[in-house]
Amino acid sequence: MRLVDLTRDIYHKMDRIVTHPPITMVPYGTHQEVREAEGVKFSAATTYITMGDHAGTHVDAPCHFDPDPGAQTIDEMPLEQFFTEAVCLDFSHLPPKSDITAEMMEEAEEAAGVKVQAKDTVLINLGHHNRTYGTPAYMTDFSGLTRESTEWLGNRGVYSFGVDAVMPGRPGKHQFEVHIVCREMGFTHMESLMNLDKLVGEGRFRFIGFPLKIRGGTGSPIRAVAWLND
Ligand SMILES: [Zn+2]
Repeated sequence: MRLVDLTRDIYHKMDRIVTHPPITMVPYGTHQEVREAEGVKFSAATTYITMGDHAGTHVDAPCHFDPDPGAQTIDEMPLEQFFTEAVCLDFSHLPPKSDITAEMMEEAEEAAGVKVQAKDTVLINLGHHNRTYGTPAYMTDFSGLTRESTEWLGNRGVYSFGVDAVMPGRPGKHQFEVHIVCREMGFTHMESLMNLDKLVGEGRFRFIGFPLKIRGGTGSPIRAVAWLND
C-alpha cells in the first residue's frame, strides 16, 4: 500500500482567489506562557487561524454553486462521496490556458487505459501545479474543463472530479459553466490539488478526501490522499 498526498500546505497569507477570505495564522498560545498547577509547570502552543471554507485544497458543497435553499451543505454530504474508487486522466501535455473538450476526455481515458465509472473520483492532471506553483501564473495560466467535458464526466455518473488549479474551468464563462453543469447534473469537484502527476498510469486506485464537518458550510479544506495498491 502506498499513500500519495494530494494536498497543498495551508500557511499565513497563502495565495487565494480574491472572492474568498484571506488566510491568516498567528500564534495564540505560546511556550512563553507557562501555567502551573499543584507545582507542575506546563505550556501549550496553539495557533489562531482564519480562512474561508474554500481555502487551499478543498471540495465544493452543492450549496456553493446552487442557490436552491435545499442544496446540500458540506456537513450534509454523504461520507461515501469522499472515499471512492478513482482514476487519473492526464492533460499535462496541453499548452497552458487550453480548454479541454469532451473529445480530449475520451482520448485521455483511452491513454490511461481505464474506464471512468459511476461513483468514481476523476483526478484531472493539468500539470499546472508543477509548472507554476509559487509564481503569479499559478492563479491565472491554468487549463480547464468546459461545459462539454464537464457533461462528459456527469454522464458517467461520477461523484466528483479534481484539478491541480485554483478553478476547474478557465476564468470567464468556462469557470461558470463547469459549476453550472455540476449543479445541473448533481456532482461536485475539488480545487488546488497537487501531485496528480504521481497518479498518471496507475490505473484504478482509492481516493480519500474527507471535509471538515462545518455546519452549513459551502465547502471545506480536505486532506486529499490517493491510496495505491502496489
Ligand atoms: Zn469550485
